[in-house]
Amino acid sequence: MLKARAVDGPDQSFREAEIERRELDKKDILIEIKFAGICHSDLHTAHGDWGEVDYPLVPGHEIAGIVTDVGEGVTKYKVGDRVGVGCMVDSCGECENCKAGEEQYCLKGNVPTYAGVDKYGEPTQGGYSTHIVVVEDFVLGIPDSIPLDKAAPLLCAGITTFSPLNHWDAGPGKKVAVVGMGGLGHMAVKIAHAMGADVTVLSQTLNKKEDGLAFGASSYYATSDEETFEKLAGTFDLIINTVSAKLDMNAYLSLLTLNGTLVNVGAPAEPLDINLFSLIPHRRSFAGSMIGGIRETQEMLDFCAEHDIAPSIEVISADEIDEAYKRVMDSDVKYRFVIDISTM
Ligand code: NAP
Ligand code: ZN
Repeated sequence: MLKARAVDGPDQSFREAEIERRELDKKDILIEIKFAGICHSDLHTAHGDWGEVDYPLVPGHEIAGIVTDVGEGVTKYKVGDRVGVGCMVDSCGECENCKAGEEQYCLKGNVPTYAGVDKYGEPTQGGYSTHIVVVEDFVLGIPDSIPLDKAAPLLCAGITTFSPLNHWDAGPGKKVAVVGMGGLGHMAVKIAHAMGADVTVLSQTLNKKEDGLAFGASSYYATSDEETFEKLAGTFDLIINTVSAKLDMNAYLSLLTLNGTLVNVGAPAEPLDINLFSLIPHRRSFAGSMIGGIRETQEMLDFCAEHDIAPSIEVISADEIDEAYKRVMDSDVKYRFVIDISTM
C-alpha cells in the first residue's frame, strides 16, 4: 500500500489515504513521485464541476519524479532517470489521432491520469501520492536544467499553453493576449514571449502587473476597467483564455483583429454565450484546445530548458492542500502550488 491524499466528496477536505499501484507489466515504469502540481482542473474534478466522479479521488496530473523500477520490455528510461507524467497515462495507440501524435484527442478517449479507467478496468488515481505506474510511452524525460519541483507544472500548465501557441503560430510579429494570469496564464506569458510574440496580459486587476512584465509581457491591463476593452478593440492576432470561470466572451472576441483567433483553454462548467456577430464581420475564430500530445509535451520541456523558462511556484506540504485549494478559488496563487510529496 502507498500513501496518498484523497477527497471523498465535492465539499470534503483532503485526508490521508492508501492506494495500490499495479505490478509492472512489460512496458511499465514505476516512478517515485517527488512533486505534484495543483491544477485548477483538480479542483473542478474534486468539486464535481464537470459531472459526477467516483470518490475517493486522488487528483494530480502534474507529476515529476524518479524512475525506481522498469518492466522487462522498457527501452526509453532506466532506474534513476528524472521523469514526468501529465494529464494522460494511456490511449488506444491505433486511431489516426494517436498515430499523428495527438493522443490527447484519441478517438476512443485517452486514459486520464485520475478519475479515469485504465485498460485493466481499474480506476486511475493521480499524483497526490508517493508512486505511480505508467506505460513508458506516456512518460516524459525532464531536462537536467529544470528542477523537479518546477518541472511538475509544465506537465499540464506548460503543455496546455505551449500547444495552442505553437498551433496558432505565436511568434515574431504576432500580438498575443493572455486572459487570466494564474497557473496556465503565467506559463502562457513566459512561453509566448520566448516564442517571440508581443504579449499582453488581461487580468482582473493590476495587482500582478510587475510580475507579468517580468514574465515577458509588454503590456498589462485590468479587465475590471471598461476602458481596457475600448482601447484594445481589434488588437490581437491570438487570445489565449485561461480563466476557470465564465466570462463575457463577446467582449474578448471584440479584441481580435481580422482573422484573429480566441482559444479557450479555461474549462468552466457553464456554457458560454457567443454572439455570432462577434465573429462574422471580422472573420474571427473561436477555438478550444486540450493539453498536447506526448511528442509535443517533450518538445515543450526541451523548449523551456533551452529558453531557461520555468513556472513560478509555491511549494507546500501535503497537509496544506485544502488551504491551497481555497487560495486557488480566490485567484490568490503565485503562480502554481506544488506539493512536496516527501511530506506525505
Ligand atoms: P488558476 O491558476 O486558478 O488561474 C485562473 C486565473 O483566471 C486566475 O488566476 C485569475 O487570473 C482568473 N480568474 C479566476 N476567476 C475569474 C473570474 N471569475 N473572472 C475573471 N478571471 C478569473 O487556474 P489554472 O490551473 O490556470 O486553470 C485555468 C483553467 O484552465 C481551469 O478551468 C482549468 O480546468 C483549465 N485547464 C484546461 C486545460 C485544457 O487542456 N484545456 C488544461 C489545464 C487546465 P487573474 O487574477 O489574473 O484575473
Ligand atoms: Zn491540469
